[in-house]
Amino acid sequence: KENAIGFIGLGAMGKPMAGHLANKLPAQTRIYVFDVVESVVDDLCAHFPDKVMKGANAKDVAEKSETIITMVPEGTHVKAVYLDPQTGICQSDISGKLLIDCSTIDTPTSHLVKDHIAEHFPTASFYDAPVSGGVVGAVKGTIAFFLGASDTDPNLPRLTSLLQMMGKQLIPCGGPTFGLAAKLSNNYLSGTIAIACSEAMDMAMRSGLDPRVLAKVYAAGTAQNTICDRFCPVPGVYAEAPSSKGYKEGFKVQLMRKDFALAVEMAKRVGSKNVLGEVGLETYTGVMNDPRCKDLDSRVVYRYLGGDED
Ligand code: NAD
Repeated sequence: KENAIGFIGLGAMGKPMAGHLANKLPAQTRIYVFDVVESVVDDLCAHFPDKVMKGANAKDVAEKSETIITMVPEGTHVKAVYLDPQTGICQSDISGKLLIDCSTIDTPTSHLVKDHIAEHFPTASFYDAPVSGGVVGAVKGTIAFFLGASDTDPNLPRLTSLLQMMGKQLIPCGGPTFGLAAKLSNNYLSGTIAIACSEAMDMAMRSGLDPRVLAKVYAAGTAQNTICDRFCPVPGVYAEAPSSKGYKEGFKVQLMRKDFALAVEMAKRVGSKNVLGEVGLETYTGVMNDPRCKDLDSRVVYRYLGGDED
């Protein structure tokens, strides 16, 4: 029980992340897990019978653990997991405990949870720590964490040793909710580049150019960036890119659409000019609802915009 870790939300990201903890934490450290989908909990517990234990709900997990990690889809789920009046984490005495929310959500919800915890449990520490690197990164243990804390935060060594079991990099972003703001800014940028790259390649390809030549041009020129190479939206340019695998692996378009919407909302809230936001949001909403693109890697925006036609 001592120093036990709690993990709530065992979906596409959470399950492999919790699996890394189970593999790497010392044998005596227990991991208490909970998800509203019981089968994923049973799966993980069966895989690590002496280490991973089933919690009855979020409150129960929090009661049994010193550090609690949450990885659920949206702000409403984070609110439910922490603040539900019957089963929420905050219904247990979390004084002195470390709470790490890795979900990508809106900053006001994260603030709300943090403020609630600060008011009721002043010795508890709550951090936003969203991740980047996708399901493949979660499985390989190569994700990056964007931490809502300063680089002099007293809990940083503890956070680093724990989070590095699940990923490669931890970047302290400066203060509470800055991890989320950084993550949304990153996805806004990479989502916007994917649209621009799709259009730029399409116009040149329709003019007769080979996309592999174009990729070399960008890499040598001022347009060099990771979306135009490792994640090239045009199939066949990079063998490892999701586009070359039928857009089947990678970052699903519905998640890109979600993060893009959160970024646009954030820009509005802070009064940042955001001329590409509405166009991007409309585009990803279209991609998400297009039967040829639905449920695929977000770089399928290239197909949506008229490329990749057989
Ligand atoms: P997912 O839908 O696969 O998993 C979420 C899990 O949370 C599910 O198993 C669900 O049952 C569980 N859940 C929902 N509400 C709950 C509650 N009240 N109590 C307990 N469990 C609950 O989602 P995911 O892909 O694992 O993503 C999780 C978060 O990570 C999201 O915010 C997402 O934006 C972010 N993210 C995802 C990726 C990716 O490529 N999938 C990459 C980076 C970040």
